[in-house]
Amino acid sequence: MEIIEVGPRDGLQNEKVLVSTEDKLELISRSIDAGLRRIEATSFVHPRRVPQMADAEAVMAGVPRRPDVSYIGLVLNRRGFDRAVAAGVDEVNCVVVASETFSQRNQGMSIADSLQGVADLAGDARAAGLGLSVTIAASFGCPFEGEVPETTVVDLARRVHDLGVDEIALADTIGVGVPPQVSRLAAGVAAVAPGARLRCHLHNTRNTGYANAVAALDAGITVLDASTGGIGGCPFAPDATGNLATEDLVYLLDRSGIDSGVDLGRVIGTARWLDGVLGAPTPGQLARAGAFPGSLAD
Ligand code: ZN
Repeated sequence: MEIIEVGPRDGLQNEKVLVSTEDKLELISRSIDAGLRRIEATSFVHPRRVPQMADAEAVMAGVPRRPDVSYIGLVLNRRGFDRAVAAGVDEVNCVVVASETFSQRNQGMSIADSLQGVADLAGDARAAGLGLSVTIAASFGCPFEGEVPETTVVDLARRVHDLGVDEIALADTIGVGVPPQVSRLAAGVAAVAPGARLRCHLHNTRNTGYANAVAALDAGITVLDASTGGIGGCPFAPDATGNLATEDLVYLLDRSGIDSGVDLGRVIGTARWLDGVLGAPTPGQLARAGAFPGSLAD
């Protein structure tokens, strides 16, 4: 089971406190020390749209370079892609949205145009030796249109897979999904994207996130996104709240006998440190409740 630490990007992007580049780099270093090996480090979007990510280049210039660590940069267009390549990311993550209204609000373009954008970048990503993943946002529901037909998501996944991407993520951007939906979507996507690595990006907005994570595991999904402390939202999705908390997910996996290679005590330590950086308690539970058995947190 692989956990992608998305705290530095999806986690922080909606925080009102402007976090310093130094603290972002500390979050990344602490995550690596805890055993996380794929880290969504930043996004290459216009700083006016997401001011928290204005230091994308400075973050990438400061990250520790290790052959076993892969840094992911979120890109929404050609300009972002070129910046990400210049900044030295290992992987780019693109987004297509499963609802037309949310696509216009989040991406500023239609679904068809954003698919075309991914198609335009796919070859260049390969040529540059970069991993390419695509996140299908609002796969479980849209803040503006409501229910998103599962056939729409599966059809999008098929088209994304046909572009030759390495990994496809089903994102519950606003945290409305429930386990049977995860099972159905995972099966539907696996059927149209044979051989693709599937990932789930879950938010715990309505306390279904961890149940959905278990459903994802049961459905054979081997990669999950999570953010230390469970921080995160989306500036373009009203009232969206945090990601799965990395420490809560690691606890669930550890106690279930599933190895993620992540040190629970260290992530709890990072969540508590993050409370101080953000000036408020993070939503994750393990930083308060502590590990069991014994006290692994220090
Ligand atoms: Zn998210």
